[in-house]
Amino acid sequence: MAKYKVNKEKCLGCGMCEVNCPGAIEVDKSGKAKILDSEKLAKCGGEEICPQGAIEKVEE
Ligand code: SF4
Repeated sequence: MAKYKVNKEKCLGCGMCEVNCPGAIEVDKSGKAKILDSEKLAKCGGEEICPQGAIEKVEE
């Protein structure tokens, strides 16, 4: 299963990932995205759902 991480330096907290893939990722209190469900995120397109390139695949 693919694994992802959020590059906090690139993440702007725009919330697009949350809109594109509800339940898989959310912007937390720090204003940065946090992955909730990697499997769901993979199904939505993984790193492609972030226009800033802040979602990075760490493992296939
Ligand atoms: S991960 Fe990308 S789409 Fe999600 S809040 Fe951060 S910059 Fe926006």
